[in-house]
Amino acid sequence: MTDITIIGCGVIGAAAAYVLSGYDVSVTVLEAENDVATGTTKANSAIIHAGYDPEPQSLAGQLNVRGSAMAKEICALLDVPYKQIGSLVLSFSEEENETVKKLYERGVKNGVPNLEIIDLERLRTLEPNVSDKALCALYAPTAAIVNPWEYALAMAENAVENGVELKLNTKVQAIEKTENGYKIHTSNGEYESRYIINAAGVHADKISAMVSDKPVNIIPCRGEYYLLDKSEGKRVNHVIFQCPTKSGKGVLVSPTVHGNLIVGPNAENLESEDTANTAKGLEFVANSVRKSVPNVDLRASIRNFAGVRANTDTDDFIIEFADDKFLNLAGMKSPGLSAAPAIAEKAAEMLKESGLKLVPKPKKVTQRRKVRFAELSDSEKSELIAKNPLYGKIICRCETITEGEIVDACHSVIPATTVDGVKRRASAGMGRCQGGFCSPRVVDIIARERGMDILSIQQDKQGSFILTGRTKGE
Ligand SMILES: Cc1cc2nc3c(=O)[nH]c(=O)nc-3n(C[C@H](O)[C@H](O)[C@H](O)COP(=O)(O)OP(=O)(O)OC[C@H]3O[C@@H](n4cnc5c(N)ncnc54)[C@H](O)[C@@H]3O)c2cc1C
Repeated sequence: MTDITIIGCGVIGAAAAYVLSGYDVSVTVLEAENDVATGTTKANSAIIHAGYDPEPQSLAGQLNVRGSAMAKEICALLDVPYKQIGSLVLSFSEEENETVKKLYERGVKNGVPNLEIIDLERLRTLEPNVSDKALCALYAPTAAIVNPWEYALAMAENAVENGVELKLNTKVQAIEKTENGYKIHTSNGEYESRYIINAAGVHADKISAMVSDKPVNIIPCRGEYYLLDKSEGKRVNHVIFQCPTKSGKGVLVSPTVHGNLIVGPNAENLESEDTANTAKGLEFVANSVRKSVPNVDLRASIRNFAGVRANTDTDDFIIEFADDKFLNLAGMKSPGLSAAPAIAEKAAEMLKESGLKLVPKPKKVTQRRKVRFAELSDSEKSELIAKNPLYGKIICRCETITEGEIVDACHSVIPATTVDGVKRRASAGMGRCQGGFCSPRVVDIIARERGMDILSIQQDKQGSFILTGRTKGE
């Protein structure tokens, strides 16, 4: 019998595991997919929001600023790419000037540090490429950009190193209430747990309905993006937002931590989770972005992708018990990525208040470091290659990723077993050719390092097999 079982290992489940691994309790994470962070956590704007958007009385308002401050510390400890580049919300009309003022006041109430409303002259100094039709902007220097999947992965790895058990390929199918807690029926056996945390993202409604009649109404809402080549990566220096509307924070333009430019998203309600791109969605994004940054060159697009928000009818996070020992962390739309560790901290407090004994324990592992070959000096590179010649073999030419780094990914705390698993850990395939050249090499390396049959290697989620058979004898 485990003390706490977390269902789902996106950034919310990973943050919960990370925080709870600092207490003397047993924790198991059940994840349906073959890797962590394959859901909404891998497909979003990757912004650690400063915290002026949510209403102060909302949970999001209370947790965003704290979560963002924690994210900065966690990324430093766990070696996660993070850059505090600041954000700007542009105003294009008198009415939007009022919105900017309201956001400023809300931000001050939420405790966002160093917020300012800046005039066009200052805006043009900070951002020469924004439209000259902008009137003023809200400047939030604490906003940051992050690698969202590595953030979740790093927290999950640290949790595992500190005793949390992670079960991949384990889809929760039913939950039965027992005398001491719950019996969880999965695609990979049965688990007993005293407490459950539901962090199943867009599917949290189905998990909640397994124990409670009180509905959680998730409305999947797709957001589509352009990811542009590094040639466009310096088009802007900050995260550039337009004024938010009822359907969200609007289309943004931002550098990414990898040096690319991200443009999007739109907002389209769906019947179910669907991450396909659409001509209509992309056209909307393309037209909207020109309002804030007219000269952005969308012909430099190297990939389109879409993420699905777990919107609800409450307009806030749902952090509440659905049963006496079953805690929902549901409806984690934006700023869920930013608030994740603060949400986890709140979850721990709520478990404690409900009677779970949570005694802090010193963590065995507090830091994480990995080789990022491309970022090393020439002498550091030579030293590394002398120790291990695999760091001298470039596999992903676009991003200068070495065989040594891919081997590291295959043997990391939560090992990569798919091509996108390697991409999430080592960035191979992130560049201009999007894995066109390196994917076959990556498949070979995974097969060799993990002792897997090459035909069983998948691109990403379960079922995404790449090879159908051999064309030549062994
Ligand atoms: C378009 C878009 C833009 C966004 N931009 C930002 C932003 O810039 N900043 C920000 O702060 N937030 C942003 N967000 C929100 C942020 O991405 C989410 O809050 C966050 O990723 C939610 O994480 P999660 O762990 O709840 O969900 P997920 O990452 O989806 O994880 C849920 C996990 O549960 C697993 N699961 C589901 N069902 C089961 C089951 N039956 N059994 C076991 N496991 C199961 C899934 O496989 C998945 O791994 C954005 C979201 C979208 C869609």
